[in-house]
Amino acid sequence: MIPAVMPTYSRAPLSFVSGEGSWLIEADGRRFLDLGGGIAVAALGHAHPALVAALTEQAGRLWHTSNLYRIPAQEQLAAALVEATFADTVFFTNSGAEAMEMAIKVARKFWHHNGAPERHRIVTFDGAFHGRTLGTISAAGGEKLTRGFGPLLPGFTHLAWGDHDALRAAAAHPETAAILIEPIQGEGGIRPLPQQCLTGLRALCDEHGLLLILDEIQCGMGRTGRLFAHEAAGVAPDIMAIAKGIGGGFPLGACLATESAAAGMTAGTHGSTYGGNPLACAVGSKVLEIVTAPGFLSQVAQRGDAMRAGLEALVARHPGVLSGVRGAGLMLGLGCVVPNTDMVEAGYAEGVLTVPGGDNVVRLLPPLTLTDADLAEGLDRLDRAATRCAARAA
Ligand SMILES: *Cc1c(COP(=O)(O)O)cnc(C)c1O
Repeated sequence: MIPAVMPTYSRAPLSFVSGEGSWLIEADGRRFLDLGGGIAVAALGHAHPALVAALTEQAGRLWHTSNLYRIPAQEQLAAALVEATFADTVFFTNSGAEAMEMAIKVARKFWHHNGAPERHRIVTFDGAFHGRTLGTISAAGGEKLTRGFGPLLPGFTHLAWGDHDALRAAAAHPETAAILIEPIQGEGGIRPLPQQCLTGLRALCDEHGLLLILDEIQCGMGRTGRLFAHEAAGVAPDIMAIAKGIGGGFPLGACLATESAAAGMTAGTHGSTYGGNPLACAVGSKVLEIVTAPGFLSQVAQRGDAMRAGLEALVARHPGVLSGVRGAGLMLGLGCVVPNTDMVEAGYAEGVLTVPGGDNVVRLLPPLTLTDADLAEGLDRLDRAATRCAARAA
């Protein structure tokens, strides 16, 4: 008989009743160190007192009014995002996929608004992940996401990672509207786009008048030690989708854009019942305030360096299990020799949570507030997990 919850996930046999900082706790009291952060969502860990206070304070006053009216918390968060980024304007959503859908719509509408509606194609890349809606699976392409869900949405040009000739041809195509990319692929297996490639994509967009859309849903909000990953390359997009970390666990996403890119998005062109509701924005504002406070991001970068060094030592100790480390800040991928799911499961046995990713990688996306003591404990537990895998492989 089909389970009451539709069986679209292969879930681990674990369930948690509470959380505290970087730890998750089962009903019997067993504690797990959460180095997956709920897939890069719990940016400030679990039950952060300032977020609990922001949410409960708003919950006691007002939950929802709809976007028929002005929402001060939404205006405040939008202004803070505009202040902190390239963007001039922000649309709020409840998830990453919706933020990406909006990004696609903004790009298409831009060209319609500017008298070139034939420019509707968006260039995307192999290994990408942009969400699970029909639009975003069509954007990413890839058999694993799209199989059985056709017909897909037309208007995407899928390119192999690193195929420069195809990229130049696609950019010059008269129907191309935009280029869409994750500065660091998340689901694809923590595959960072080299900085010179991001600079090159910006230059290519400028040369052909195309919009550059970045998906920073996983790599943004401080995760790499910068507020947004693209800042490291010294270039800015025209449109950017964010989600995950911005809500710290409350469902919240946003599409950020320059004034020029958003020129077509006038009253009535897009909407969301819940998007940017007072509860979500109260939490989002507090997350952003904490992540942009002086010293926070440099500490993320330092912790990321320490975690990377610790992981590299593990790779050296377990060459039959682990193959290498990649990523930036606290978005790190541990390449595996054994199946990555073996390593993730061995972690469960040792009380440490990680996330499998594409390219046989184990993803580490811990709370940005991970303490030095928790990092040391996490590395010990991963070391024991790798030992288990080595014993199994022998
Ligand atoms: C998680 C993710 C999405 C989708 O976000 P949802 O909130 O699950 O819809 C899109 N793009 C990237 C890069 C992601 O990591």
